[in-house]
Amino acid sequence: MNFELKDKVVFISAASKGIGRATAELFIKEGCKVAIASRNQGNLISAAADIKKTLGVEPEWVVCDLNKAEDIETAVHEVNRTLGEIDILVNNCGGPVPGKFDELEFKDWEQAADQVLFSALRFTREVLPAMKAKNWGRIINITSISVKQPIDNLMLSNSFRSALIAWAKTLSNDVGQYNITVNNIAPGFTLTGRLYELAVTRAKERGESHEHVLSSMTNDVPLKRLARPDEIGALIVYLASVQASYITGQTIAVDGGLIKSTY
Ligand code: NAD
Repeated sequence: MNFELKDKVVFISAASKGIGRATAELFIKEGCKVAIASRNQGNLISAAADIKKTLGVEPEWVVCDLNKAEDIETAVHEVNRTLGEIDILVNNCGGPVPGKFDELEFKDWEQAADQVLFSALRFTREVLPAMKAKNWGRIINITSISVKQPIDNLMLSNSFRSALIAWAKTLSNDVGQYNITVNNIAPGFTLTGRLYELAVTRAKERGESHEHVLSSMTNDVPLKRLARPDEIGALIVYLASVQASYITGQTIAVDGGLIKSTY
């Protein structure tokens, strides 16, 4: 299928590793001009070099800490200058710290709000004027299955990701008239550093090994395996495509059937 994405400018935040990086590779394979961002320059340089080695194309990269408003503004301006105005914005972020309500300090809430919610708002404010002017755009937020089924001990993720999808739905109503779609992806257990960290935390709480935790997570999934990051990225690329022009305001899980509800 030809997704008609050639030469579209794609910006993906928090993309030196994991789902963000896998998504960047898929967009490059579609012939897009891709920029990846992350807070760590060393990780970005090595991700860009690895991608060049495997795909023959080096993504643009820009250092951007999602907890710093000024980094977000600068990153978008830099990509506009080097690649052109952004057509497809993928809002990804690092996962906020785990914890229950009475274990979290107010500064944890502030940092998670910046990381998960305000970063997406800030990027979107930067890119929307150009999308409206072109009468075309895609905004895709990477969230979590926690928006459909809250996950124990992830108070911050559960709270701010739900706010994010409410914002995205409202935004999709406002910008649909400009052919701009806004959707959310809710990944299930995906083989990345974040999942490993969560397994280690859960293992400590329960006095088990992280291998045991990972295997019991796997067992909970009807498909009996964890997701590969590119299986999440594949839906993101589809949602950006012309074929997905009539899909907006949705939150779609890619979770191997893990969520137990029917919607
Ligand atoms: P990951 O840990 O593999 O990668 C996270 C990326 O975010 C890295 O590139 C890291 O450098 C970057 N990052 C972290 N903090 C940042 C900051 N302040 N500023 C800029 N960049 C920052 O994570 P992943 O598994 O690819 O997860 C991506 C998102 O999906 C996360 O929000 C995660 O919570 C969520 N998620 C993951 C899973 C899973 O099982 N892996 C499941 C559901 C949701």
